[in-house]
Amino acid sequence: MKKLTYIGHSACFIEKDWDGILIDPFITGNPAANFDFKQKRITYIVVTHAHLDHLGDAIAISKATGAQIITVFELANYCMEKGAKAIGINIGGCLEFKWGSIRFLPAIHTSSNPDLPYGGLAASVLFDIEGTTIYHAGDTALMSEFALIGELYHPYYSLLPVGGYYTMDINEAAVAAKMLYSMEIIPIHYNTFNNIKVNIDRFVDLIEAQGQKCIPLKPNEYVEL
Ligand code: ZN
Repeated sequence: MKKLTYIGHSACFIEKDWDGILIDPFITGNPAANFDFKQKRITYIVVTHAHLDHLGDAIAISKATGAQIITVFELANYCMEKGAKAIGINIGGCLEFKWGSIRFLPAIHTSSNPDLPYGGLAASVLFDIEGTTIYHAGDTALMSEFALIGELYHPYYSLLPVGGYYTMDINEAAVAAKMLYSMEIIPIHYNTFNNIKVNIDRFVDLIEAQGQKCIPLKPNEYVEL
């Protein structure tokens, strides 16, 4: 069985017998997260950008497990300087694996942290896992690129930030969902902090009114891919 588990905020974990891919592993300090990486086999850690609620525990987990961080070039270099294993690709780049691919795509957002003034561009990421396509939008504003990503890759699942303030809000994320032509939408990046609180039932209604399915996963809930 291959599955995607929601950890909380924008963090999730894709696993199958071959590999475990952790995405934006903000675990320490994340009030929603209850995830023990030591219980999992983690081979890759995909990080969309350098903000600490996305880079999270990536460097520490890489050092503890040997998992490779996959992220944008400048941020990958920073991770390597800190002793992690990392692969630095860039927006538009794609890595091939025996089970599929990981493709870095645009996001409209910034990428830095107090220790890294410039982390390169922020990314969104498309996963092809044995033919199942999963798009993780990272942090982003609503952008016309969603239409092109939808046309080219029609991701089956899209994980979209909906919290507003730092990213698009529920109304804009519903427009993004339509542009992406996804069958199932998983909202992320909401309710972790006071300034990104949303009424998620309202988002579910918007998505269902468009004929798409919305799955607001609670931390540690998963979908079978
Ligand atoms: Zn961010």
